[in-house]
Amino acid sequence: MAESVELPGRLAILPFRNQVLLPGVFIRIRCTSHTSVKLVEQELWQREEKGLIGILPVRDAAEMTSMDSVLSQGVASESGERSSKVQINTSDAQKIDGKSHPEVIHWHKRGVAARALHLSRGVEKPSGRVTYIVVLEGLCRFNVEELNTRGPYCTAKISPLEMTKAVFLEMEQIEQDPEFVTLSRQFKATAMELISVLEQKQKTGGRIKVLLETLPLHKLADIFVASFEMSLEEQLSMLDSVDPKVRLSKATELVDRHLQSIRVAEKITQKVEGQLSKSQKEFLLRQQMRAIKEELGDNDDDEDDLAALERKMQSAGMPSNIWKHAQRELRRLKKMQPQQPGYNSSRVYLELLADLPWQNASEEQELDLKAAKDRLDSDHYGLVKVKQRIIEYLAVRKLKPDARGPVLCFVGPPGVGKTSLASSIAAALGRNCVRISLGGVKDEADIRGHRRTYIGSMPGRLIDGLKRAGVCNPVMLLDEIDKTGSDVRGDPASALLEVLDPEQNKSFNDHYLNVPYDLSKVIFVATANRAQPIPPPLLDRMEVIELPGYTAEEKLRIAMQHLVPRVLDQHGLSSEYLQIPEAMVKLVIQRYTREAGVRNLERNLAALARAAAVRVAEKEQAVSVSKDVQKLASPLLDNRLAEEEEVEMEVLPMGVNNHEMSNTFKISSLLVVDEVMLEKILGPPRFDDQEAADRVATPGVSVGLVWTTFGGEVQFVEATAMVGTGELHLTGQLGDVIKESAQIALTWVRARVADHKLAAAEEISLLHGRDIHIHFPAGAVPKDGPSAGVTLVAALVSLFSQKSVRADTAMTGEMTLRGLVLPVGGIKDKILAAHRHGIKRVILPERNLKDLVEVPASVLSSLEILVAKRMEDVLEHAFDGGSPWGPHKIGTKLLKSRI
Ligand code: ADP
Repeated sequence: MAESVELPGRLAILPFRNQVLLPGVFIRIRCTSHTSVKLVEQELWQREEKGLIGILPVRDAAEMTSMDSVLSQGVASESGERSSKVQINTSDAQKIDGKSHPEVIHWHKRGVAARALHLSRGVEKPSGRVTYIVVLEGLCRFNVEELNTRGPYCTAKISPLEMTKAVFLEMEQIEQDPEFVTLSRQFKATAMELISVLEQKQKTGGRIKVLLETLPLHKLADIFVASFEMSLEEQLSMLDSVDPKVRLSKATELVDRHLQSIRVAEKITQKVEGQLSKSQKEFLLRQQMRAIKEELGDNDDDEDDLAALERKMQSAGMPSNIWKHAQRELRRLKKMQPQQPGYNSSRVYLELLADLPWQNASEEQELDLKAAKDRLDSDHYGLVKVKQRIIEYLAVRKLKPDARGPVLCFVGPPGVGKTSLASSIAAALGRNCVRISLGGVKDEADIRGHRRTYIGSMPGRLIDGLKRAGVCNPVMLLDEIDKTGSDVRGDPASALLEVLDPEQNKSFNDHYLNVPYDLSKVIFVATANRAQPIPPPLLDRMEVIELPGYTAEEKLRIAMQHLVPRVLDQHGLSSEYLQIPEAMVKLVIQRYTREAGVRNLERNLAALARAAAVRVAEKEQAVSVSKDVQKLASPLLDNRLAEEEEVEMEVLPMGVNNHEMSNTFKISSLLVVDEVMLEKILGPPRFDDQEAADRVATPGVSVGLVWTTFGGEVQFVEATAMVGTGELHLTGQLGDVIKESAQIALTWVRARVADHKLAAAEEISLLHGRDIHIHFPAGAVPKDGPSAGVTLVAALVSLFSQKSVRADTAMTGEMTLRGLVLPVGGIKDKILAAHRHGIKRVILPERNLKDLVEVPASVLSSLEILVAKRMEDVLEHAFDGGSPWGPHKIGTKLLKSRI
C-alpha cells in the first residue's frame, strides 16, 4: 500500500455525526438527507473517475468533553477566521438529522479523505425521494484549513497529512528509528494477544491475524483500532495521532485497554456464574428437564415413585444416623436421570433400606412353657432329651429375655427333624422363622454382601433374610452351617463368627448395606449334619444338640403319628380313602428305606398317597356317570340322581377343604394298602437283610461300620490277590487316612504271617509274588477316616485263610501297627445303622463301651456287642469258630449287652 494519493486542495465534506472513519477502513453509508444526496450526486455520481470526498466527524454539544473543547478551539485557531462552533442544518440518514433537531455541533479539525468504491441509487416510494448507498474507503488524514458551510453542502480547504511524497520519505526514515521498531514490536505483541483471546472466545481472529502479518504497522494501527468497539473519544484520538510513533503507542494502549476489559469481563462472568448457587442451578436444570419431558410427552411418574419411596423410608423407623445416610442417598437419587447409570442401583439400595425391619418386631408374648412343651410334643415324636434342652433354653429366655444364651446347633443326619424343630421353637416363641441355607456357601460376600461398587451387588443372605422376615427379631435358621467352605473369595465362617457373637452382632456390617444393623434381637438356630467340619471358633459359640438317627420302631411311631396324617392331608385325602396299616409302614421302613432320618420314608408314603389320589379321582368320574349312585350315602347326589335317570357328566360343587370333599365323594371305596399295592407302587423291595450274607459268601470280604453325613452306614470291604510284585492297590475314592489304614492293615497281616510262619490256604501267599487289591464298594462315594482299620484286617485275613467272615457281624475300630484297637467316633449312629441292616453282632473297640449309653435300649437288646482290645480279639469274634490263625486268648469277656 505504498501508493501515494494526490489530494485536491479542496474537498466536499460529508459530516459524520459522533463517528470516525479511519484510513484503511471501509464503510457503507446510506445518504438520505438533502445535503448529503446533493453532495453524492455532484461529487461522486456524476463523475467519471472514482471521486474523493472528506469525512469529518461532528459532535453534539452535549457529548463534548473538556478535551474536545480544546480540539474545537484548535480548529478555530487554525482556521483563523471561522469558529468551530457552527450551527448547520444538515441531515444525514446515517448520523446527521439537523433539520428536525437544530442544535450546536462541533466540527472536528481533522478528517479523512475517502474514496467511493461503490455507488447505488434508489428512489423511495411513494415520496419519490432519491437516496444513495455509498461504499467508502478511508484513505488518509487531512487538516481542515477552512470550512465552508455555505452552498448545498459543506466544502473545506484541506492540507493532507499522509500519503504525500514528503510523508513517504519521512516514513522510511521513521521505520529505521529504534523507538519506532520497539513500539511496533510492542503493538504487534499486544495485538497478537488480543487476537488469541478473541480466537478463544469467538474464533474470528483468523482474518485479522493475516492482516497483522501483511500490512505496514502504522496503517494497521488504524484498521485494528477500528475493528473493535471503541468510544468516540478513543476513535478521535486515533484520528488525531498523525505521527506514526504516537499512533502506534496510542493503538497499543487502546488494544491493551480492550484486552484488559475483555479479561475483566471474563472474570466477572466467571465470578457471577460461580455465585449462582448450586441449588439455583439445580432448580434451573430441573425446570428445564421438566419442560423437556413435557415436550416429549414423557410424563412418567418417577417423581411419584420417589415420593412414595421417601414416605416408605420415613415410616421404616431407621435410627437417626442411618436416616441421615438414607436421606443423603435419596437426594443424590433425585438429582439423577432414570436412564443414568447408577440410578437403578441407588434406588434398589434405598428400597432395601426402607424395607428392612429396623424396629418392626414380632410382639413377644408371655412365654408359656407348658404350651411350648405341648407344641414340641405334638410336632415331634420322641427326641426327649432334645426337647428337654429346648425347654431349658426357652425357660432361660423367659426369665431373662435379653440373655445372651448360646446359639443352639442341631447336629444329625438328614431328615431327623432339625429344621422342623427350629420352626417349632419359633412357633413357641410366637416369632417369624426365616431359613438361610448356607450349604455350598464359599464366598464371604454371601454372608456380608458385595460392596455397592460392584455391578450386580447384593446384600448378604442375613440381611436378605431379615428383609424377608419383615421383623427384626425372627428366629433365624442357619441351615447346613457345616457345609460352608472357604476359598480365595474369603471365609464365610469368619463372617458368621461376627454374626453369632453377641458382642459384635449389635452392629453387623453388611458391605452392601454399608450401615450397621443390629442383629442382637435375632435368635439364631443352626443345623448341621456333622459337627466336625464346623470351624472350632464357630463351634465354640454354639451349643451342639445331637439328633442321632431313629430306630425302626421310632420311625414307625413317627410315621403313624405324624407322617401318615400329614401326607394324607397334603394330598387331599383322609383315612376314609386310604389306610396305610402299621404293618405296611413297617415294610416300607424295612424294604424301601435305609436311612437315619425319615425323609425317604415320608417320600414313599407320599407316593402311596399320590397313587391313591389318582384312584379316588378316577372313581369319582366313573361314579358320576353310573346309575348305581342312588345307593350312595351322599344325600346331595342321591336326590339329584334319583330324579334324573340319565345323568351325563355333571360338575359338582367341590369343597375346598378335605372335609367337604370327603363328604362329596364318599362314593369311593376305602383303599387299604397291602403288600401287592406296595410293590406295584414302590417297585420291588430295595433292601433286605440278605445283603450281608450274600456279600460275605466269598472269602476276602468283611463288614464294617462307617459314619457319613447321612448317619451311620454299613460298609463292605473287598480284598483279592493276584500274581504281581507285592504291591497294594486301593480303589473306591479313598482319602489319605483310609489309604494309610490299608497299608497298616496289610503290614500287620504280613508281619503276623511271617512271625508265626502261618501257612496260607490254597497258595494265597500274602508275602511273595502277589499284588493285593482292596476295594470299597459304592465306588462313587468318597470315603475317609481311620475306623476301617479292623475291617481291613478282617478282609485280608479272610482272603489269606480263605475263610469267610460271619455275615451277621459288623465291626468298627482304628488299629495301630502293633495290633491295638483304638476307639472311634459315631458309635451310636453306627450301631443304629447295623440295626437297620439287620446285623446281629457288632465288634467295637473296648474303649467305646461307654458310648453305648446313648444307644436306645431297644436297639441294644437286639444286638450282640463284642468288644476288642487287640486285633486278635476282632479276628476271634469275626470268624465262625474263632480266629483262622488259631486260638487266641481273648482279654475281654464276650459281652452280650443289655444296658
Ligand atoms: P432335617 O432338617 O433334619 O434334614 P427335617 O426337619 O426337614 O429334617 O425333617 C424331615 C421331615 O421329617 C419333616 O417333615 C419332619 O416333620 C419329619 N420329622 C423328623 N423327625 C420327626 C419327629 N421326631 N417327629 C415327627 N416328625 C418328624
